[in-house]
Amino acid sequence: MQIIDGKATSVEIKKEIAAQVKEFVAAGNKKPHLAAVLVGHDGGSETYVAFKIKDCEEVGFTSSLIRYEDDVTEQELLDRIEVLNNDEDVDGFIVQLPLPDHIAEQKIIEAINPDKDVDGFHPVNVGKTVIGLPAFVSATPYGIVQLIKRYNIETSGKNCVIVGRSNIVGRPLSILMSQKAINATVTVAHSRTKDLKEVCRNADILIAALGAPEFIKEDMVKEGAVVIDVGTTRVKSDLTKSGFKLKGDVDYEKVAPKCSFITPVPGGVGPMTRVSLLLNTMMAAKIRRKK
Ligand code: NAP
Repeated sequence: MQIIDGKATSVEIKKEIAAQVKEFVAAGNKKPHLAAVLVGHDGGSETYVAFKIKDCEEVGFTSSLIRYEDDVTEQELLDRIEVLNNDEDVDGFIVQLPLPDHIAEQKIIEAINPDKDVDGFHPVNVGKTVIGLPAFVSATPYGIVQLIKRYNIETSGKNCVIVGRSNIVGRPLSILMSQKAINATVTVAHSRTKDLKEVCRNADILIAALGAPEFIKEDMVKEGAVVIDVGTTRVKSDLTKSGFKLKGDVDYEKVAPKCSFITPVPGGVGPMTRVSLLLNTMMAAKIRRKK
């Protein structure tokens, strides 16, 4: 059994991006610039955005943080997006989700210029991904595919079962895994799937993205399977300073011995999600400056 080390892989990719930034700047370009829009003070969102800014610094990007209070109107946000869309200095930007209830998330996503949509949530990028055109792919699926490639995991003709069909993880991942570059035979399971245990046991590659801690048990996993655990649920813990612990969707201790490869939580998919935003921003900068 081999542990897939997402942390180490992300460090490697960050070094590669930092080298690309140096080359990019040496060729006379400004540093790639990522802007993040953060609404309110949700603890999770604050942490995610802080990490994104820190990651930018690490690889040599310029970053900017635009903050609004919870009571920002939808129109104010749309106006700001318009400014960012037209700002020559900004290569890519994200609006951290979730947004307060009075703001229509989909409307915000669709207001972003697809060429600057480094989160890959705009329907244009999703649509391009579906038909295999170059596009910004959302960070978690992109990160998982990078891991699979870097670990030389055989995917061609393999049965890949993805548990979860969300727009940010399960569904786009199912599209990527079935593309010609990967060639897996994909099943997307969800809360209405019958005989989930049997469906999972058929997987050569099992990807758990449902958000239910330790849901995938050893009797749901085929001997020798590759298991990718996307789940991150905060559960209370007396053993950590923060008072909580991150749990994956896989019962790691019991499942790991059966696997050929497995991602841990934390240290598997999470760091790869972070690095994927950097990869998308680097790509956005390269494409824009070529024009
Ligand atoms: P989500 O939007 O809540 O979607 C969960 C999906 O799982 C839904 O499609 C749901 O089915 C399915 N599901 C839920 N319970 C199920 C069950 N008992 N059996 C079968 N399917 C079930 O979640 P998400 O945003 O995709 O996130 C999933 C997990 O990944 C969460 O723990 C999240 O925190 C984590 N995550 C981690 C990263 C990372 O970077 N590590 C990034 C994103 C998300 P229905 O469609 O039928 O409701």
